[in-house]
Amino acid sequence: MGKIIFCFILGLCVSILAGANSELADKNHQSKNQSDKLKVFFIDQESKAEPFFHFNFGKYKITALSDGYITLDSTIFNQNLPEQQLEQIQKQFFKNTKLNMPVNAFLIADGKDLTLIDSGAGACIADGKAGHLAQNIVLAGYQLSQIKTIFLTHLHRDHVCGLSQQGKKVFPNAMIYVSENEANYWLNDQTLASLEQHQRQQYLDNSEQIRIALKPYRSTDQFKTFQSAANINGIDVIPISGHSLGHYGFQIIQAQQKMVFVGDLVHSNLAQFAYPTLSVAFDHDPILAALTREKLFKQFADQNSIVAAAHLPFPGIGSVKSIANHQYLWLGLTSKP
Ligand SMILES: [Zn+2]
Repeated sequence: MGKIIFCFILGLCVSILAGANSELADKNHQSKNQSDKLKVFFIDQESKAEPFFHFNFGKYKITALSDGYITLDSTIFNQNLPEQQLEQIQKQFFKNTKLNMPVNAFLIADGKDLTLIDSGAGACIADGKAGHLAQNIVLAGYQLSQIKTIFLTHLHRDHVCGLSQQGKKVFPNAMIYVSENEANYWLNDQTLASLEQHQRQQYLDNSEQIRIALKPYRSTDQFKTFQSAANINGIDVIPISGHSLGHYGFQIIQAQQKMVFVGDLVHSNLAQFAYPTLSVAFDHDPILAALTREKLFKQFADQNSIVAAAHLPFPGIGSVKSIANHQYLWLGLTSKP
């Protein structure tokens, strides 16, 4: 099993083990030199094949989990920039117009409880390329019944549909949390009337699948909403506005270093770091999404935060480096050196 040490500038030195042996990760965590400059060691070929990835962050054991991927057209990156620049970005960053966008979820073990962030696509995307989260949690060494808390960054289908299978709970003992705004948008019948005619059918299709995924939990009071600035089970809830009406991230802190689970703040490990203004067609508010991205990329770079993202190359964990004014670089664990 591959073993990697991952240090950020002046930050907490964390150990990563590409496999299930967390004892070894603990030893490495204690022995590394905290003054190391930016050093990112890359996952070896063998460990890349695993659909789970263990990462120690202070007292927390984080496991990145692959749900699979969604095939999209690269022209979804089409917001906020002039046509000519969009064409140039397509040529520069997307050799292939078909894009296999990874879907990642994250498990946080705090020594007492297990918290899952997002639940994958379940059966909502019918081509079978996504929807593998539950089996990969078991492969990573955990039982689905052990998971007590599930935070949803938002209610798009690739984040919520993995909660249930054929009307039954996949995570029988979990309390589900999502922001109040997001829940109101998708679960309140009054939303439909507020939409333009051409938006209604797509809203209805999505909303139906979202409601089916949540139904077994709502019917047994295993569904709660939160508002901004909440802290639930020691995890900070932070607004990451723009992608959906109530899109939120989650943050843990160890030795003054932050690890932030950012959901759909970003969908490309290259184009949107070079051009943070670039939003995707399915961002609810593409301009607000871009403003949020700019602000948070700068903050992550300045603070040497560890970032975990739902749609960056697996394991979706890395750091953000500022390389010029309004230009950034994703230092992901699967990047090529
Ligand atoms: Zn998503």
